[in-house]
Amino acid sequence: MFSKSIYTFILVLFTLQVLAQNPYNPNKYQEVWAPVPRKVDTGLDDKTPPSDAIVLYDGTSLDQWVSTRDGAAVPWTSENGVLTVMPKTGSIKTRQEFGDCQLHLEWRSPAIVEEEEGQKRGNSGVYIQSRYEVQILDSYNNSTYVNGQAGSIYKQHIPLVNASRKPGEWQTYDILFTAPKFNADSIKVSSGKVTVLHNGVLIQHNVELKGQAPHGKAPLMLQDHSDLVSFRNIWIRLLE
Ligand code: MG
Repeated sequence: MFSKSIYTFILVLFTLQVLAQNPYNPNKYQEVWAPVPRKVDTGLDDKTPPSDAIVLYDGTSLDQWVSTRDGAAVPWTSENGVLTVMPKTGSIKTRQEFGDCQLHLEWRSPAIVEEEEGQKRGNSGVYIQSRYEVQILDSYNNSTYVNGQAGSIYKQHIPLVNASRKPGEWQTYDILFTAPKFNADSIKVSSGKVTVLHNGVLIQHNVELKGQAPHGKAPLMLQDHSDLVSFRNIWIRLLE
């Protein structure tokens, strides 16, 4: 009987000692002290791309882009700092190919809403690696299939919420992309993942990209879906 009490006492002491340590604090074996992060200048406002970003469209030059049809100059219009789809001239893509990245872009669907509904209203899209479409659509007051509304990973992932602004208002996408990895035998060893913030709101949370054949880096693509969607302030950071 006595020895049982001793054991209980020791157990209580041990439990108190464990509880005295904050279980949410890493112990010293988990602490990390290096490397020192390199500096990135973020400018004085949120319109300025980070200093280590590749600026893909700053409102003037389209040098970073070509037509997907023939690799020639971009047939879309760039006026007053805004890039706008020229319907039925085809999509455009970057000259440079990208893997893991952080992408920022701003887009706007037409202010004047015509009779069309569903997929015919302010449709474009940003294709990561020319393969995975983050849908661009006027989804403010426009029902369509949910895996094809604004912010969907087209036909793969429905956005967590609908963070759409009114047609005619500028909207932002901030996209984090981890490319799928393939081994020497072209077997996929890890899936691609994507996170998307729409107007600062998390709408895709590290979702897994499915069903793609082996591939490496590839251009970013913007879709011509025959609607007058506009873009500005497009930049990308390499995460390699
Ligand atoms: Mg689209």
